[in-house]
Amino acid sequence: MTASTSPAGTVHPAVSGPASPPATGALRVRPLPAEATASYLARLAHAYRLTLPHLLDGLDVHLAPGPEKAAPAAELHLNPTAQQRLCVFTHIPRPHLARALPRLTQPGPLHTTGPGPPTAHWQPLVPAVQPLRVCTACVSHRSRGTHTTAWAYPPSAPRLTICTHHQQTGSDPRHTAPLDIRPLPELTHTHQQQARTTIPATELTWATTITTRWYDHHQHLAQRWHTRLARLTTANPHTHHPTASPALTCRSLVTYPETLTLARALTRIPPHGLARTDHTAFLHHLATRLELPRLAPATHDPLFTRLNTR
Ligand SMILES: [Zn+2]
Repeated sequence: MTASTSPAGTVHPAVSGPASPPATGALRVRPLPAEATASYLARLAHAYRLTLPHLLDGLDVHLAPGPEKAAPAAELHLNPTAQQRLCVFTHIPRPHLARALPRLTQPGPLHTTGPGPPTAHWQPLVPAVQPLRVCTACVSHRSRGTHTTAWAYPPSAPRLTICTHHQQTGSDPRHTAPLDIRPLPELTHTHQQQARTTIPATELTWATTITTRWYDHHQHLAQRWHTRLARLTTANPHTHHPTASPALTCRSLVTYPETLTLARALTRIPPHGLARTDHTAFLHHLATRLELPRLAPATHDPLFTRLNTR
């Protein structure tokens, strides 16, 4: 068993044999809320001036062979024994670590759920479920100032990470940095408002479906969203991606205020559905909240479908 010291004086994790007790680390690196396991391990390795494979090696966790991957395109799964080693090393009890890292205790694709030698393996993630960039200032604060990149899982709808304190957001895994939302104070304002009330996930999903359709089909709020997108891309030239336009990668962000307004309005619909005679009053209320002169959804509009769903 060996421990080494880097030129900067940070202690590397002890390299131990299979029968050795798990190593404990000298540095404390706290996870960010909903952080991807791969993101947390990369930050942890960075704090020790190690690469991720070297950190796993030091923890005596076998990294299953596979293509070189990294967040956000892949997630790192640890079997229970490897999870235990990570908890000991980080000084973070397993329930706390599992709460902070939502994928930590989820079974991986290779059935690494049972006991066995500590093992880690990469699982590729499709873009629709990939984690998003976290505010660089918050990451730096949680990484002892050594690191500014981290990835966290957003809610399922709308898919966004927002830091209202530093006014940064992640809306698509293809962006090379978080977006600066200071030119769009309505996004911060909306998010702070949302934090004060609880909107059920069902209504958020419906509202996201509806505003996504309106956005894609240039309906109802097209001009407002176009203006907002222009302000966002001017402040964030890195949103211009070679294969995905900002109109697509910033969609959830551009529509965010109206998505939340709509979701809040949908919570007014009683569980047994809205009577036909109440549709006009509801649409009038919704149009007022969205600052639209009127709202008359066509039969193929998902809002029409929601109003007629029980
Ligand atoms: Zn922040």
